[in-house]
Amino acid sequence: MSLKKAQAKTAQKWIRDKAKNPNCPKCDRNEWTIGDLVKSPSYEKGGLLFGGDVGFPLLVVKCDNCGYVEQWAADAIGIG
Ligand SMILES: [Zn+2]
Repeated sequence: MSLKKAQAKTAQKWIRDKAKNPNCPKCDRNEWTIGDLVKSPSYEKGGLLFGGDVGFPLLVVKCDNCGYVEQWAADAIGIG
């Protein structure tokens, strides 16, 4: 799910406030793009479950320099 502009601003501010080191852990640059909300699958009884009430929403953030991707719990940010 794409973020609305207000959600992206909230996420940028939240990450800026929480991340002690804002630089990418792989290339050490600070050039990020806020991506979409995705939902994690849940592992249960030997299989992966998708959708419904399982998993939780994640915000995907990509390093513009090297492509490293990190995920943040959207509910902690207040957008999920
Ligand atoms: Zn990087």
